[in-house]
Amino acid sequence: MNILLIGSGGREHALAWKLAQSRLIAENGGTLYASPGNPGVAQHATLVPLDLSNHAQVVAFCTEQGIGLVVIGPELPLVDGLSDSLRAAGFAVFGPSQAAAQLEGSKGFTKDLCERAGIPTAGYVRTTSLEQAVEALDRFAAPYVLKADGLAAGKGVVIAQDRAEAEAALDDMFGGSFGQAGAEVVIEEFMEGEEVSFFALTDGAVIVPFGSAQDHKRVGDGDTGPNTGGMGAYSPARVLTSDMRGEVLSKIVAPTVKTLADEGTPYAGVLYAGLMLTSEGPKLVEYNCRFGDPECQVLMMRLQSDLGEYLLACANYSLGALPAPQFSTKKALTVVMAADGYPGTPAKGGRIANIEVAEAAGAKVFHAGTALDAEGRLVANGGRVLNVTAQGDSVAEAQDAAYRAVDALDFPTGFCRRDIGWREIERETAAV
Ligand code: AMP
Repeated sequence: MNILLIGSGGREHALAWKLAQSRLIAENGGTLYASPGNPGVAQHATLVPLDLSNHAQVVAFCTEQGIGLVVIGPELPLVDGLSDSLRAAGFAVFGPSQAAAQLEGSKGFTKDLCERAGIPTAGYVRTTSLEQAVEALDRFAAPYVLKADGLAAGKGVVIAQDRAEAEAALDDMFGGSFGQAGAEVVIEEFMEGEEVSFFALTDGAVIVPFGSAQDHKRVGDGDTGPNTGGMGAYSPARVLTSDMRGEVLSKIVAPTVKTLADEGTPYAGVLYAGLMLTSEGPKLVEYNCRFGDPECQVLMMRLQSDLGEYLLACANYSLGALPAPQFSTKKALTVVMAADGYPGTPAKGGRIANIEVAEAAGAKVFHAGTALDAEGRLVANGGRVLNVTAQGDSVAEAQDAAYRAVDALDFPTGFCRRDIGWREIERETAAV
């Protein structure tokens, strides 16, 4: 089978790595294509320069190449309806419809759905008026959680410590600091607890748990400094006990999938639930309509089943025909190497060498923001540049292996956190 993978991040390198090993590609000489991809993805796939906003062009490519499955990695093309255009043309697509991708595309949509379905989450108010938003603050206590409704590349959430800060943030949001994404704002009750990412595949009816992870959002060691897209992650999230996992499935994920199906907008793809483990049990913080980045890298490191078969079964509404996916009992951990300046303006063009040395030290190095320069040398070309990913019998062992590989890399204009996994390693140490 020929497969087209959409996206260009570390997530897509990890997906490409697993898809290239799929029986779907291996049998009968299939080809994995990727667009736009990156130099890491290019190790496993043929890159094609498609204009992803031009759906007719993507459909034409799939027709010409006889594509049997399209895997959409990032949220933007999903929220933009690429999967609908491809499905309308008869292609099997891994990734939800535009209507179902509203789960990530509109925070207000998700909050309303949670209310209709009785899903545990923070109390909220959604509004398009600054005046109403300021008034609504009376119904909440500090810290105030303020969210731009639309996609804001993970930057649309402000946690304001007092009322003055909250009002200033609302001024900013309605003043256009998040563009159209901030035309509507959701104000939420603050939830206390530890955060966990939970993944489930679904074809709109059958739900298959697909692993858990925890990430580190802040740029600095000790979880300090500004928020980023994620500086590292590990899997599984042992803090999510099997009882809690059952509760997440029955009280959060299943009612979401059922409500969307009942309302005529069935969800097929991966459902990524951001959860808060509160004293009242797990509650939903947010949904994403795609794999997390860098969480995907640690999930793919542990996945032993054939990724292609599961993604195809989501696309073909036949997930129930597959056995439960198998994951290694080992722990996986990924360290993000970012370019100096990230999450502000990252230094571009810094040279990167010794990836083979790092991999020989026992890790897999996934490319995120990399490019080849005019001489064909690998250089940094984005904020988050590499994801150095390793496994071990414990998170501490996986961390050791990942940092040994980091130290073998030659990337003078890059940096990383040195404490990825610290919370879990403290728990491991306490348990000994
Ligand atoms: P989101 O983009 O909705 O995941 O929000 C980004 C981050 O803000 C989350 O990962 C949480 O750390 C934090 N956050 C969002 N909503 C809440 C909430 N209701 N209570 C506490 N923290 C929150």
